[in-house]
Amino acid sequence: MDVDSQINVLIVDDHPENLVALEALLYSNNVNYIKCNSGEEALKYLIKEQCALILLDVQMPGLDGYETAKLIKARSKNKATPIIFITAINQDPEHVINGYAVGAIDYIFKPFDPDMLKSKVESFIDMYVNSQKLMMQTALLNEKTKELQLANEALSRLALHDALTGLPNRTMLYEKMINMIKTASGIKSFALIVFDLNNFKAINDTLGHSYGDTLLKRLGAMIDQSLSPGETIVRLGGDEFAILLPDYGESNAINRAKELLDMIERPVDIDEITLAIGVSLGIVLFPDHGESPDSLLQRADVAMYLAKRSGSGYALYDKQHDLNDPFHLVLMGELRKAVENGELTLYYQPKIRMSTREITGVEALVRWNHPKYGLIPPRDFIPLAEQIGFINPLTYWVLEEAIRQCKAWEEEGIDVKVAVNLSVRSLQDIGFLKLTENLIAKYKLKPEKLQLEITESFLMSDTIRALEVLSNLKSMGVVLSIDDFGTGFSSLSYLKNLPVSKIKIDKSFVMAMMDETDDAMIVRSIIMMAHNLRLEVVAEGVEDMETWETLKSWGCDVAQGYLMSYPKPPGDFICWLKEQKDEGKWSL
Ligand code: C2E
Ligand code: MG
Ligand code: MG
Repeated sequence: MDVDSQINVLIVDDHPENLVALEALLYSNNVNYIKCNSGEEALKYLIKEQCALILLDVQMPGLDGYETAKLIKARSKNKATPIIFITAINQDPEHVINGYAVGAIDYIFKPFDPDMLKSKVESFIDMYVNSQKLMMQTALLNEKTKELQLANEALSRLALHDALTGLPNRTMLYEKMINMIKTASGIKSFALIVFDLNNFKAINDTLGHSYGDTLLKRLGAMIDQSLSPGETIVRLGGDEFAILLPDYGESNAINRAKELLDMIERPVDIDEITLAIGVSLGIVLFPDHGESPDSLLQRADVAMYLAKRSGSGYALYDKQHDLNDPFHLVLMGELRKAVENGELTLYYQPKIRMSTREITGVEALVRWNHPKYGLIPPRDFIPLAEQIGFINPLTYWVLEEAIRQCKAWEEEGIDVKVAVNLSVRSLQDIGFLKLTENLIAKYKLKPEKLQLEITESFLMSDTIRALEVLSNLKSMGVVLSIDDFGTGFSSLSYLKNLPVSKIKIDKSFVMAMMDETDDAMIVRSIIMMAHNLRLEVVAEGVEDMETWETLKSWGCDVAQGYLMSYPKPPGDFICWLKEQKDEGKWSL
């Protein structure tokens, strides 16, 4: 509202000539004088309109000035409207007091001084205009404050939430974790589960982004509903989510991850398409695995990657698998020099034919004899070597050293076959076949004395290329076996198509088979089915006699494990061999 344009002043007098005279006297550009002949008329006008000032005659027929004023002031809308009485009589104090009592601001007595009346009226109008302005500004200010407030709320919501799913975002997760770490003061624990969807990109590419978005929203809402108070689900970005679980220890967190796995992998219907999504979850615990939000998130990623790689669905963080671990980062820089500096060495572990206790061969297992850290096991540097593209030179070194050693033993009259572990990278390497052929020729080794072990899960990742290389190796006369069988996803019938002649049952099943009926069943059925396919079965991880006897009774062909011997440097292995009473046989 424009204050200047709408200033009404009410003049109430029963004599029309007074009304006209007053109007003429008080004329002003921006003031609209409303003339009323009676109190009643004035009251009627004021129901609808607002005015800056009322000039009110005291003596009128019907409602007199005082009565009119009383009624005007009784209305809340007009309470603050100033009233000036204009009167010729009643100058006595009693009447004046009466006037003030009913709400008069001032009295003008007839005959009045026109200039005085004019200046009084003008100053009331000024007051009115100013108060209107002030009111408007206050309203504007309130409105703005409310707007600045609303925008703030929206901004902070935006800053802490994900636009697509409406779930809290990474920033909120950091804030929550920082708070929990602060209040934990070493007593409390919490778990963080990070997960992403397998092949989400393929869903987006084939079914469209809006389908992908719907899937993410549905998934977020579904998990959000399943949470207990205090727990938070966060969208980290893309198809990556995190769940923060206060007061969770290891076993609770693992159980929760299993539940989530189950829930997420249940098929969902979107737009008449039923979709089953795979997911990989990584679990970290505060304070066990990290003490800052950054380290926890980074390690949860490591665990998630591990879950993805192994196909297990979920995995708890394990330092040994963390290539970003400071120790691993140091090693990574030094690994390339390790071969040149002669820091790699091979340990040998015997394999025993169960029926005869004959020592049929040895497995060559690489160690890094680090000048500062001592003997480093392969799990700490083989994945690193794969990551930095150094696995091929490492494999070449191992292969040559194992072949050289095998030939040297042969020349000493010790006849053992040697098995070398291959990385799948070697099977992808064009030069690998030729190299193997050349080494066999160089050391004049009978090809069947060389065995190559390929980890099952690796084999699965690049089957076609692997198949070609394996076939060529086989035709060369080299013996091939599948390592860590049971950890990947191949079925035994699938192995039938591969040119392999042995499988090694993963040690995790063998080591648990005496305590866990599931594992015992797995081991027993692998042996049975492998035999049906005419594959030789090697059990690794045989640590006690009971396991040995059981495996033997199930018809397992070969055993390898700490029960017979730890992996040993060549000299120690020869000592062990010589300690055996029957030559070439393991003495129980
Ligand atoms: P793998 O080929 O399955 O080797 C068997 C592993 O089980 C060896 O661990 C061995 O020390 C261990 N082991 C044998 N018997 C027992 C037992 O009774 N109980 C227990 N708890 N463990 C037993 P290691 O030497 O630490 O090697 C680990 C893995 O590293 C190997 O598993 C293999 O996958 C890889 N690796 C070792 N050397 C090489 C290599 O030269 N090249 C490549 N690419 N990988 C290698
Ligand atoms: Mg092996
Ligand atoms: Mg193995």
